[in-house]
Amino acid sequence: MTSPASVSYGGGPRIAVIGAGVIGLACALSLRRGGAEVTVYDRHPSSGEGASGRAGGMIAPAYEAARGEAGDAFFAFALQSARLWPGFASDIERLSGGSCELDLSGTIACAATPAEADGLERLALACEGRGVPVRRLSRAEALNLEPLASPDLHAALHLPGEGQTDAGRLVWRMTQAARAQGVRLVFDQPVDRVICASEFILPNGARADQVLLATGFSLQEVRFERPDGEALDAEAPRLHPVKGHMLALAPSPAAPRRVVRFGSGYAAPKGRWTLVGSTSEPGETDPAVRPEAVEALASRLFQVLPGLKGTPEVMSWTGLRPGTPDGAPVIGALAVSGVFAALGHYRNGVLLAPATGELTARLMLEGRSETVPAAFSPRRAGIRDTASHSQSDC
Ligand SMILES: Cc1cc2nc3c(=O)[nH]c(=O)nc-3n(C[C@H](O)[C@H](O)[C@H](O)COP(=O)(O)OP(=O)(O)OC[C@H]3O[C@@H](n4cnc5c(N)ncnc54)[C@H](O)[C@@H]3O)c2cc1C
Repeated sequence: MTSPASVSYGGGPRIAVIGAGVIGLACALSLRRGGAEVTVYDRHPSSGEGASGRAGGMIAPAYEAARGEAGDAFFAFALQSARLWPGFASDIERLSGGSCELDLSGTIACAATPAEADGLERLALACEGRGVPVRRLSRAEALNLEPLASPDLHAALHLPGEGQTDAGRLVWRMTQAARAQGVRLVFDQPVDRVICASEFILPNGARADQVLLATGFSLQEVRFERPDGEALDAEAPRLHPVKGHMLALAPSPAAPRRVVRFGSGYAAPKGRWTLVGSTSEPGETDPAVRPEAVEALASRLFQVLPGLKGTPEVMSWTGLRPGTPDGAPVIGALAVSGVFAALGHYRNGVLLAPATGELTARLMLEGRSETVPAAFSPRRAGIRDTASHSQSDC
């Protein structure tokens, strides 16, 4: 456990960020840039041990155009965040001295069955309706862009505005960038209790003026209490888990050139492997890998990229997406003064990290609550419900 050292920052508010996932780190970077004295706490010995280090790394707003259940404000936020990504990545790269492996070469979405072709047509119409670039591809055009795709595809789209990063490496770079920018990182430090007096007191004795919950899906809530031990209800949202399986295949000459989508799955070429994701299992908290889930994912992949059959598996893993009943994140002030939330980014935390960081900094440093869409409010209807929803994945 790291002990609280005294670091001088020159007068900004002291902010404790709880959670070193992609959201906590993005917020920490923006808050620090805005002049705050920021300390990030995480229960694990390193960052990215929650959903963030296990994610597919898709930066995929177009898929939200078709799903649309989280509403217009959410979709606008997703597009805004995708636009922020190149600058966000180059800031992290400058500060960390290493690459975020941002790939903006777009996505080919493939349909292996007539039903999937119908789904792609709905996606194309939704993108056109929202002004998102999309192009229907003939079979020859699809094979020209992705020569190793199946020649039996029923339909294909090119989505040039989509991107990807390597989520595991991104979190590592963000951690280095945060350190370089003067953010303090305190690992191996669960924050199960925060005492609320004239200032906030963290379990390691450190003090803060404001607290940001960026805890992702967590089975244990942070308890806020008065110095006499009386509990305070911060009215934090109740998130529900949506488990996802991921599969990494060894580098192969049959790997796709860019992200290939199939149904709700994807194959993404990363420098170190081809990443295949993902399942969507609402309500499931058991982190164990189920071999049959991985096999089902692989067999759907082989319908569109048959050349990958027989490629050795490097590893498989699972993660828990932090879900909300309406699919939109929760960003805003909670019911205890000085406590804020950046939670519930569900299947899009990587995509939404840059915009969430900026929005949270405006909210916490400038008090500009009017800039946060009502659709993200911690007080919106239904957000404290525990009922899970069953949506498809990312
Ligand atoms: C299989 C899978 C695939 C995904 N693919 C994509 C994708 O392609 N694109 C995309 O945009 N998103 C994707 N996501 C979603 C994305 O990973 C999440 O939305 C995002 O990681 C959420 O980030 P977070 O920082 O809120 O939570 P987390 O990454 O879970 O981080 C929360 C952190 O808080 C810490 N913590 C919790 N409670 C405490 C406490 N009391 N004290 C101290 N520390 C605490 C945890 O240890 C953890 O490190 C995927 C998720 C999964 C599981």
